[in-house]
Amino acid sequence: MDPADRPLFELTHRFADELPELCTPWPGAEVPDPQVVLVDDQLAKELGLDPTDLRTADAARTLVGMEVPEGAEPVAQGYAGHQFGGYSPRLGDGRALLLGELHDLDGRELDLHLKGSGRTPFARGGDGKAAIGPMLREYVISTAMHALGIPTTRALAVTTTGEPVYREDGPLPGAVLARVATSHLRVGTFQYAASMQDAALLQRLVDHAIGRHHPAAADADRPALALYEAVLDAQASLVARWMLVGFIHGVMNTDNTTISGETIDYGPCAFLDAYDPATVYSSIDHGGRYAFGNQPSIVQWNLARLAETLLPLIDEDQDTAVGLATDLLQQFPERFTVAWRAGMRAKLGLVTEHESDPELFDDLLRTMHEQGSDLTSTFRALSSVVRGDAGPLADQLGDRTALDGWLDRYAARRADDGRPDDEVADAMDRTNPAYVPRNHLVEEALAAATAGDLAPVEQLVDVLRQPFEQRPGLDRYTHPAPVEFGQGYQTFCGT
Ligand code: AMP
Ligand code: MG
Repeated sequence: MDPADRPLFELTHRFADELPELCTPWPGAEVPDPQVVLVDDQLAKELGLDPTDLRTADAARTLVGMEVPEGAEPVAQGYAGHQFGGYSPRLGDGRALLLGELHDLDGRELDLHLKGSGRTPFARGGDGKAAIGPMLREYVISTAMHALGIPTTRALAVTTTGEPVYREDGPLPGAVLARVATSHLRVGTFQYAASMQDAALLQRLVDHAIGRHHPAAADADRPALALYEAVLDAQASLVARWMLVGFIHGVMNTDNTTISGETIDYGPCAFLDAYDPATVYSSIDHGGRYAFGNQPSIVQWNLARLAETLLPLIDEDQDTAVGLATDLLQQFPERFTVAWRAGMRAKLGLVTEHESDPELFDDLLRTMHEQGSDLTSTFRALSSVVRGDAGPLADQLGDRTALDGWLDRYAARRADDGRPDDEVADAMDRTNPAYVPRNHLVEEALAAATAGDLAPVEQLVDVLRQPFEQRPGLDRYTHPAPVEFGQGYQTFCGT
């Protein structure tokens, strides 16, 4: 075939074939003027694509869903979910489509998914559309998360539709996000399948999930239990990564908790400035259910909902199944803590484990909380301490001496480790980012983009792609929000 005639994406339809009960074939909506405005060139190359091919008029039609690549069979996926603790039996892709699966250059199978591509049978009251701001927000923050080394779905492109979408503040430019993920299986997918009371269907879903994410589970005595354990570990490790970097997801419903262990659905998410476990940014989280410090226990709660769906496949005797699943679920806090402590050790440049570590970590965080310290800047400043300059750390404290006693213990602990200071400090700078998507920078860039200027978003993404390498001229990206901004900052769901 002439390369020019090859479809932009070579897509399979494995999910649609293996689990037809869990999806509906569906096309994207026609839109008046699709224009690709942002492409992640690096991701495109990883997928074996030429980024310039993604910027053509044809690509724009594909990236909003109005043109289907040859051989593809787009579907809207069904799922259920507990939203803020209340169960909705039928959520699903109300404004999204799974275009199909593709393979990256390493042969990994990935979903290609569109968000904002029009109403589907799962749309309920929604218009099926997305405004450019929330789609760019997902683009910016998921790109930053990936650069930070945190498992996440990734944004491939944002395409404007040329059509207004109507939100509380009036008309906004419409857009579609194309994203890539190792799959879009969620806890809610299992809840949806379980509600159909069809053991064979549930078994097919388990087999599909094992095949795509945790193949070793296939050889276990109880594959469904082994899958459960693998998901539990992946989620324990993921939420530990969030806690170490100050990420608040904001809407950790069971439909936003993946089987892969990737972060998904960047709605009302945000990064902490001052360290405070009670921080909530989401405008809809009135009870603080998804506050920063609650995230590990909420993941555990969501994993309990996953266990409930798997019981019939774990053992035919329900009590045995409940016992086995409960044993694992109860290990979640411990598995989380192990992952989190390993991460804290890395942040402090420590390599050995010591029984005093939990106290050392807790005392640092408690002081940061008391002193209103900026999480990102404080950890970044610790490498300067190791290099012999405690000034940048003191700058993060209300009382500049608040950590003096702690610093003595920290020095003793490093001496115990016996690694050369410069090596330790360099390793810390590869672990503690200088740049995270600070809320005021994200808002400023999105406001400019909504008004038609994409340059600040592009600049921000450029900075965030290399979060660990401090570069001259980028100081403003390291500062916390100005006081006027911080008070009462709220984020809104990506509708
Ligand atoms: P999210 O908050 O993005 O995780 O979405 C929660 C649920 O609401 C999912 O089932 C979405 O498909 C659906 N949804 C959100 N916004 C819209 C919209 N504008 N039109 C249709 N469905 C939507
Ligand atoms: Mg969602």
